[in-house]
This record gives sequence, structure tokens and C-alpha cells, in this order.
Amino acid sequence: MPARIAAGNWKMNGTRADLDQIDALTAAHPAPAVEIMLCLPATLIAEATARAAGQALRIGAQDCHAQPAGAHTGDIAAAQLADAGAQVVILGHSERRTDHGEDDALVGAKLRAACDAGLRPILCVGESLAERDAGKTLERIGTQLDGALADFDTMPAGLVVAYEPVWAIGTGRTPSLDQIGEVHDFLRKQIKARYGGATAADVPLLYGGSVKPANAAEIFGVPNVDGALVGGASLKESDFSPIIAALTSS
Ligand code: PEP
Repeated sequence: MPARIAAGNWKMNGTRADLDQIDALTAAHPAPAVEIMLCLPATLIAEATARAAGQALRIGAQDCHAQPAGAHTGDIAAAQLADAGAQVVILGHSERRTDHGEDDALVGAKLRAACDAGLRPILCVGESLAERDAGKTLERIGTQLDGALADFDTMPAGLVVAYEPVWAIGTGRTPSLDQIGEVHDFLRKQIKARYGGATAADVPLLYGGSVKPANAAEIFGVPNVDGALVGGASLKESDFSPIIAALTSS
């Protein structure tokens, strides 16, 4: 059985003053039955890690560079994130693909760098609205998955895959439950074809895109949905906790 995971993505939000949300989150979930992660701006990782010490909350990052070190001004290497306390890293988020032109080959190189540094990767895939309307959702997702995993003969350690339709991120729109189920079934089959059934059965598949307290339970009821990657609703403990509770009771 895959682990069930509630992962938050603060994106480019938050300063140290907001880290009281971490204290509230760990207080609300002292012994969670699901894995809880928060992927933070790099500036907050070290202090958040200190605050979460001894708690079940895992602190993560939102990107890493593909190279281990060197002349890359403004970038951060996976090992530096791990050194700051990160245990997890989001890779291939659609906002990185759009804002920074990241393609599948670069996402794959970052995946390698993350694994080399011992970070648990959350690989994001998802179609645009135009791709969905053109009936190309599974083709696009298959290309993204194959592109990122092309150089991995064995599955990256601890791989988590997040299905995030671009048109659902931050919009309040979500796919139908059938549409989510179709993509998650496809992801499981694709991973099985690549790495075998036993491996594929253990890969957590997260849904992301406008997950809120009001829709979390029905989304977690979809087969092959093992959790969520949550943006806006992870910023406040009062929004994130009901999502964690819905996952716990799913
Ligand atoms: C995300 O940032 O990965 C995300 C899913 O955002 P939101 O939950 O705000 O749609």
C-alpha cells in the first residue's frame, strides 16, 4: 500500500512571522496516521525544520538545481536544501515549467540531483486546459512522466507523483472525480509498465489543484488517490488540518 500523504506547497508566500502555522500544525497532529509535509520557500526551511524538530511534519523545498554545486547565481543545490533541513522537494511544478521554461529533460536532471542528495521527490505532471480540450491529457502526462524518468532504470527512491492539472491550480476549478480517477489509474499503469507491479503499487499518487476542506473527502475517495498536494489551502493550519483529517479518515 502506498503511504498517504498530505503535502503543502506555500509557493512564494510566507516570512518567518508565518511559521507559527507550523507550531499550530504540529500541535494539531501530534501523532498523524498520514504523512504531513510542507514545502516552503527556501528562506524558511532552516527555521521551520528547527520548529518541527521531533514532530511528524516533514519540511520540504519547491525546486532544486540540477547540478550539485557551481556557478549558478541565485540557484540552490539539492544538497544545500538537505543541509538546511529539507527532506522533500517538489519538482516539475507547472509554475516552474511556465515561469522558468523547465522541460521534461531538466526535470529529470533535477530528479537525479534530488535523489543524489537524499531528498524525497514529488514529481508534478499535468495537462493544460487546451491539452484537455484536445483530448491529449494522458498523452501529455505520459510524456512528462517518461521524460522525467528516462534516465532511471530503477525507480527513484521514495518517488511521489502528483497529478496537477494546470487549469485547476489556484483557480477553484477541479476535474470531475472520474477524470481524476482516469489519470491516477493511468499513472499507476505507466509506473507499473516501467518498474513492475510491486514497485508501482507502493508509489503515492497525489492529486493537486484547488483541493480545499470542502472537496477533499470526495477526492480522497477516488481509487488510486493517495493524498494531495495543496497550495493555497496549506497556508493556514485551519484550512490544511481539515484536509489532513479527510485523508486520515479516507
Ligand atoms: C499547487 O500549488 O501545487 C496547488 C495545487 O495549488 P492550489 O491548491 O492553490 O490549487
